[in-house]
Amino acid sequence: MSIHITINGQTIEAREGQTILEAARENRIPIPTLCYHKDLSPTGSCRICVVEVKGARFLQAACVTKVAEGMEINTQSEKVIASRRLSLELMLANHPQDCLTCDVSGECELQDLAYEYQVRAPAWGAKGTRYPVDSDPNPFIRVDMNRCILCRRCVQACAEIQVRDVWGVAKRGFEEVIVAGAGTTMLEARCESCGQCEAYCPTGALSNKMNYGQARVHQVAKVATTCTYCGVGCQFYLLVKGNRVIGVSSKPDAPVNGMALCVKGRYGFDFIHHPDRLTKPRVRRYLLEGKKKSRQGRNWEWVETDWDTALDLAASRLLEVRAETGPDSIGVLTSAKCLNEENYLMNKLARQVIGTNNVDHCARLCHSSTVAGLAASFGSGAMSNSMDDVAQFAQLFFVIGSNTTEQHPVFGTMIRRAVRFRGAKLIIADPRRIDLCDFATLHLRHRPGTDIALLNGLMYILLEKGWADEKFIAERTEGFEEFKQTIQQYPPEKVAEITGVPVEKLHQAAEMMGTLKPMAVIWAMGITQHITGVRNVMSLANLQMLTGNMGIPGGGVNPLRGQNNVQGACDMGGLPNVYPGYQAVTSEEARQKFANAWGRTASTKVGMTVTQMIPGILQDKIHALYILGEDPVMSDPDSNHIRKCLEKVDFLLLQEIFPSETSQYADILLPGVSFAEKTGTFTNTERRVQMVHRAIDPLGQARPDWQIIADLARRLLAGTPDLLPSNAPYAGWDYADTDAIMTEINALTPIYGGITHSRLEKGQRLQWPCPTPDHPGTPILHTKQFSRGKGQFMAIDHIPPAEQPDERYPIVMSTGRVLYHWHGGQMTRRARGLMNVYGNALIEVNPEDAAELNLKKGDRVRVTSRRGSIEAEAWISERVPPGMIFANFHFPDASANELTQAALDPVAYIPEYKVTAVRIEVAE
Ligand code: SF4
Repeated sequence: MSIHITINGQTIEAREGQTILEAARENRIPIPTLCYHKDLSPTGSCRICVVEVKGARFLQAACVTKVAEGMEINTQSEKVIASRRLSLELMLANHPQDCLTCDVSGECELQDLAYEYQVRAPAWGAKGTRYPVDSDPNPFIRVDMNRCILCRRCVQACAEIQVRDVWGVAKRGFEEVIVAGAGTTMLEARCESCGQCEAYCPTGALSNKMNYGQARVHQVAKVATTCTYCGVGCQFYLLVKGNRVIGVSSKPDAPVNGMALCVKGRYGFDFIHHPDRLTKPRVRRYLLEGKKKSRQGRNWEWVETDWDTALDLAASRLLEVRAETGPDSIGVLTSAKCLNEENYLMNKLARQVIGTNNVDHCARLCHSSTVAGLAASFGSGAMSNSMDDVAQFAQLFFVIGSNTTEQHPVFGTMIRRAVRFRGAKLIIADPRRIDLCDFATLHLRHRPGTDIALLNGLMYILLEKGWADEKFIAERTEGFEEFKQTIQQYPPEKVAEITGVPVEKLHQAAEMMGTLKPMAVIWAMGITQHITGVRNVMSLANLQMLTGNMGIPGGGVNPLRGQNNVQGACDMGGLPNVYPGYQAVTSEEARQKFANAWGRTASTKVGMTVTQMIPGILQDKIHALYILGEDPVMSDPDSNHIRKCLEKVDFLLLQEIFPSETSQYADILLPGVSFAEKTGTFTNTERRVQMVHRAIDPLGQARPDWQIIADLARRLLAGTPDLLPSNAPYAGWDYADTDAIMTEINALTPIYGGITHSRLEKGQRLQWPCPTPDHPGTPILHTKQFSRGKGQFMAIDHIPPAEQPDERYPIVMSTGRVLYHWHGGQMTRRARGLMNVYGNALIEVNPEDAAELNLKKGDRVRVTSRRGSIEAEAWISERVPPGMIFANFHFPDASANELTQAALDPVAYIPEYKVTAVRIEVAE
């Protein structure tokens, strides 16, 4: 309801329930603040925002005082100014006068106010330092409590944004101080190093240790961009001095994350300038000398060369292979780390230039089963809702096979906030006791590889208790009767036996699912990386149709995509079965469309997946590979086998930013650039397309990947006269910039038809499908009907994992990532802060299993599967149940993928990373 108040003699309209501060700011009437921040709940503790309210005995803190009809307020009376000056004077009395050397000088709210109100530190103030400077050993945040003004913004940011409660207030009166935990170090207090406290600190009490002493604020340029790590798609500013990225800071209006970031986004940037960066093209000596390929001695040594030489050699070798064994003997691996525009070019290069549909990327290894499963059930393989939407509206979160707070950390904090502050309920289904379990109402600890049985059992109870949404089923779905018959085979007792989840817990979970609506289902690779990956996904689609949770805010199917642009790489046709925008290669109509646009394309035969291409080398099917920004030795299953294949390939062209485990097998190594050195777009997990901006010039002779791809394509076409000339509108490869590539994407990709750089640069927030330049984008899919018309119920039975524990290999190993690292670790192992906290591989072992082996804290453990053996430090922890271990694949010397197997889902060809039979021993 509107009310009228007067501020400084000006009558303004305000809303009932607003604070004076909110009403004033809406009307551009300035009131200074220090402890207040719009993202945090107001405390009124610093007294800087005091105002005079007619009739009130004392000055009122504007941030906590609500407006009332007829209120008369003065924000700048003498009394108000005097009070603010006194408050500032008291703060400065306790504040070191070290602005000349303070790292945040120029970006300090206290400094600004002292200047505005012309206040100096009083002569009677405390002069010495009361607390040690840089008092916490963590590698990211410099703690100097001498500069603290006790505004408590750090305490609130940790509690209200990160929901971690690391910071608190200790002691009282003059001794009052902000402490981590009970006066411990930050990491001991379970700090996740997100830096939210530092971002919200108004002074230099908490500042960035990573760029300490490197630049004053006015020497730094801020470049807005999108994170290069996970699919959440956080935006931030890169802080640039000269041609060097020296830090990251929050971008307050970032669409997905606001001010929040995780440790990798905020502090994992220094890989950009790591001395290992590739800055010149390299070719093997045998190529330069025109000799036969030999992996021996001098012939195999790298020789740095110029771009023309490297690209000419690359083109001629690819053309030779193409001439000798045909276009389908060449495989192209595009990159989920690269721009949409670059992925589009890789798809075009494979199909138009080489003439093969053999193009794939790491989505094969993470969410290909999601894409296939959801496409079968609904007709579209993407996340149906938005992160903000489910965080705001879901009454129940069902998180299955997603360690959200470590893999998609900023979204993980959104779920925590929904549970803590909105009262939403959370069910976790995961064999591991992941951190998010601290916030769960229920944890279903099912055995690895029993997801279908678990879901069928829950749906059995939902049907039995009459909790199915019959109206939704009748109006929007088909195949229900057959599905129901299958479900009847999964009574709770049988399901408890298969999954290990007690019957009572199944009933509790089903009751919550049946009575709390909307329910958002969230999953990641715990669901997809199984031989039943596609079936697992279709089971989740069944659940959401059964409960009528599709097409509504707060509901939906929400697969969390791994890499920063894995969604975009799929959208851009980086898959062997679809052109950009999921136009099937098997469709003659689609083939004709692209042939007309490009002048030529591949056949209607589906190409090979990455899990077929690499083994295909040993079967003489693949003779050359062009890999952009991928490291199959680290990321694909059974590393030994991958090495054997790569050793045998006739020609391997690798485009990378660092030497990698895979580059040992490359014949030519082309230096691409990091996300900080190019402009274009990424698409996050919720189909949101966002700009990436070039912050620095490419290092050395490295070049933006899109330029390299286009240059190579031109050389390949020049060597393929039958392809030229062509009048087709998009036959050429002369792109001025990535905007020009996006224009071509707009023309050929209906779901991206209206997503242009210029709209994004204007701040428009666009999620595909967005078919036309005036379309607002689509935050929620399937609202009125599914992409395929009716949703398809699937009758799905439980199938056990491919490899079962036995006497020789009695333990189940699951694999995944950890908070401080990313994927094969090429970037995070070159980020010093991340390595400082998590510097070597750890293998989680349950205390019972450890006791049986006499394995103690800090001991090394040897893990052996049928394919290999690794050794690493054991982390004895209840996170894994007895009989299970968990290992990561971030460190080459102890990568879990030495042990995993290439048992594949029969539809999506995704490997079963999540279940490997192993044995464990104490390493000598
Ligand atoms: Fe980057 Fe993901 Fe962390 Fe956001 S949550 S900062 S996108 S790694």
